[in-house]
Amino acid sequence: MILARRGPASASALARRFGTPLFVYDAREARLRLRALDAAFRARRPLICYALKANPCRAFAASLARAGAGADVVSGGELARALRAGFPPAKIVFSGVGKTAEELRAGLRAGLLCFNVESGEEMATLAREAGRLRRRAPMAVRLNPDVDARTHPHISTGRADNKFGVEIPEALALYRRAAKDGRLRVLGAQCHIGSQITELAAFREAARALARAVAEVAAMGVRLEHADMGGGLGVVYKDETPIEPEKFARVVEDALRAWPGLRLLLEPGRWLAADAGVLLTRVLYNKATSRRRFVVVDAAMTDLPRPALYGAWHPVAPVAPRRGPRRRVDVVGPVCESGDFLARDRLLPPLKSGDLLAVGKAGAYAFSMSSQYNSRPRAAEIVLDGGKVMLARRRETLADLVRAER
Ligand SMILES: *Cc1c(COP(=O)(O)O)cnc(C)c1O
Repeated sequence: MILARRGPASASALARRFGTPLFVYDAREARLRLRALDAAFRARRPLICYALKANPCRAFAASLARAGAGADVVSGGELARALRAGFPPAKIVFSGVGKTAEELRAGLRAGLLCFNVESGEEMATLAREAGRLRRRAPMAVRLNPDVDARTHPHISTGRADNKFGVEIPEALALYRRAAKDGRLRVLGAQCHIGSQITELAAFREAARALARAVAEVAAMGVRLEHADMGGGLGVVYKDETPIEPEKFARVVEDALRAWPGLRLLLEPGRWLAADAGVLLTRVLYNKATSRRRFVVVDAAMTDLPRPALYGAWHPVAPVAPRRGPRRRVDVVGPVCESGDFLARDRLLPPLKSGDLLAVGKAGAYAFSMSSQYNSRPRAAEIVLDGGKVMLARRRETLADLVRAER
């Protein structure tokens, strides 16, 4: 995402008007990516369920909902926010290993498209709650195909070592049980093997496992209506080679060739949102030890936790670079943790207190992972759309920090 150089939507105008740290999202860019993914899978006319956890900001998500996207939610909170953003219930799928009975009830009452069941005990709870509400719960089993997504271990979800999904033999047993249970409606099969995936082979293996499961379920006399490939498509933060949507589509199509009538669902989060966001932050101080130079800025791990959590790399650049020799610096926040950094070992031009920095690729898993640690009120969020500048979420105040306390 590139901010305008001048005018009311420029980085400096937005920072002056709304303060920093400030998240700025480009709704149009996310919609363009939605359309590109949709076009790559054209033949199958997929339902693209935006994974809300990447960025649940209402104005941002609502623009995807208006463009025809569905939503993938992983908690009752996300379900409420997806409905509030305008996603039709019939386009919402509910994933997650620990859906509570209360959350399942909320989903059943809303009339969601599908519950992606992650264990036998959860399926029993879903059936019980559906029975009490006199409804049939539409469900898919989330498969654990034991595929290595070849991504960061904290965001790998498709191995037998991970808590996610159900291994194939047990999944088949669940389908057998579900098919005989009048409170359940067997609808599909799902898998989601991880996030920030850049190896096509991982998706190929997952798609084949999904297709095999569809065939085995068909062999027991149950015809599935959809296959859900989950999300995980990786983006470029630094020097990754991302998978082109067309190539992703081809491996999925190859695997599903025998099932032309099967509806395809996708659950991208990062791929739609990461590039559509920037975090603006101001320099507070320069300082140095005998070993390192630090630029202390007003954004922290509480705003953008990915570097602290995964050692993730985000592009960082001054909005108006000064002339002078570039120096190797760590860009750090005010939080009392040595892990509080936004960037390490970066060659940056001279920076002075008050200078504005843009941290790129901050549209996904940034604000949505933010916290109030160190009692820091959360940043504000701006959504740009065409020429419009919207304050999507105001900056939190000190009163917000203690609002729930008694
Ligand atoms: C997080 C998640 C996604 C989205 O993953 P991305 O890597 O952001 O595309 C999709 N499906 C499920 C079940 C998830 O938990």
